Amino acid sequence: MKEVLDGYRALPDRTLQPDTPRVEKFLAAMKNALRKESNWTFWLPLQLSLDNCLKCGTCAEVCPVYLENGKKEIYHPAYRADMLRKVYKRYFTFAGKKFPGLAGAEDLTEEKLNALAESFYRCTVCRRCAYVCPLAIDNGLIVREGRKILDAIGIAPEELKMNGTELQLRAGNATGTPARAFRDMVEFLEEEIEDTFGLKVQIPVDKEGAEYLVMHNAGDYLAFAETVMGAAVVFHAAGADWTLNSPDTGINDVVNYGVFYSDVEFTRVLQAQVETARKLGVKTLVVGECGHAFEGLKYLSLRIIPEDERPFKIRSILEVMDDWIREGRIRLDPAKNPQPVTYHDSCKLGRLGGLYEEPRRVLRASCQDVREMQPNREMSLCCGGGSGFAIMTKGDFLKFRMEAYGRLKAEQVKETGAEVVALACSNCKGQFRDLINYFKLPVRFAGISELVANALEL
Ligand code: SF4
Ligand code: SF4
Repeated sequence: MKEVLDGYRALPDRTLQPDTPRVEKFLAAMKNALRKESNWTFWLPLQLSLDNCLKCGTCAEVCPVYLENGKKEIYHPAYRADMLRKVYKRYFTFAGKKFPGLAGAEDLTEEKLNALAESFYRCTVCRRCAYVCPLAIDNGLIVREGRKILDAIGIAPEELKMNGTELQLRAGNATGTPARAFRDMVEFLEEEIEDTFGLKVQIPVDKEGAEYLVMHNAGDYLAFAETVMGAAVVFHAAGADWTLNSPDTGINDVVNYGVFYSDVEFTRVLQAQVETARKLGVKTLVVGECGHAFEGLKYLSLRIIPEDERPFKIRSILEVMDDWIREGRIRLDPAKNPQPVTYHDSCKLGRLGGLYEEPRRVLRASCQDVREMQPNREMSLCCGGGSGFAIMTKGDFLKFRMEAYGRLKAEQVKETGAEVVALACSNCKGQFRDLINYFKLPVRFAGISELVANALEL
């Protein structure tokens, strides 16, 4: 593969098609991104973000990917945003059209387009930089809008689009698990729960009219089954009227990879998820331990489906467990989790979802020794799995994920002396699985539901 930005490649040749003419198509798609009629969700913040930037560099001082890459210019948040800003100034402002040589305006070439596309898949859209910009410019938003333009001309990672969104819409979940196999998996989990907890738990599936529909990230059933089992045990212990759902009812996977690259694909999946919950007649859709799914269903969805047009509530499983603990509906003994535990703030649950204290209250009630990473909450460091990176492993991208973001996170974890990293997001779990192997960290990770289930006084 040819070099288009630096030695790494997030987008292989068959995705990027570096030798195909795409500039004209890109400019047409960008024009749509800047029109209210075709991008009514984000055209205004995009335009304002492109119109303004002081070049003060404050954003770079908090960007993990910039700091961890020797402060290379190509990883500077404003440099990346400027790649798009220069195109905007050249082709979409009066001054740039009239005077193509205007400072800050540049012709787009195929070479520049290659670098721009690759660059937009080097930012995890963690939004840490947005918290410090004096003009409130959100470089993460610019990146997401850039990815939307790229998707409109056929450039999107296979892992997110073909093997993610497309498969999910066809099969009901992004793991391609058919209904029969899903039911078998649930039976297997019931047996595992009996072996682990000594509890007979019947996990309801496709129950109509239940109070809670718990929708997990489908990958959790295959890769992080302890989280699914933990949630089942907690809902059982709370005496909740709840259900999982199979692909027979529609979508049974809470992921929505459109959050990372496309409003069109986001909307298709969102509508299918909402329709599934509506048909089942549940009162609350509980988002399992999945950060981007929470951001998508709870907040981005409001731009598509107003809250009063949805006949059910949307809550994170963290909020539900937090309520039950505070109400005394489930009782916990933190001594059952005696190891030192540290919580990693998922960017999507924290900066994008506002859930900082809920997971901490839940953990303090479930674990004896809870330690904070520094920094945390609003200024938490992304683990490097954000914006779909956790499932992008083509070529040397895994190495990039580890070296660019992972190293800082690994050091943060080590400094706490914790033996367990508590995670509330499936993408973070994927990234931590790789981080622990890559840096040989003396820790294990656990889902919050798993820790709560383990602490239950049954
Ligand atoms: S902090 Fe804001 S104004 Fe300063 S360089 Fe970054 S994006 Fe531009
Ligand atoms: S969103 Fe995160 S990775 Fe992207 S530029 Fe900002 S701080 Fe860096």
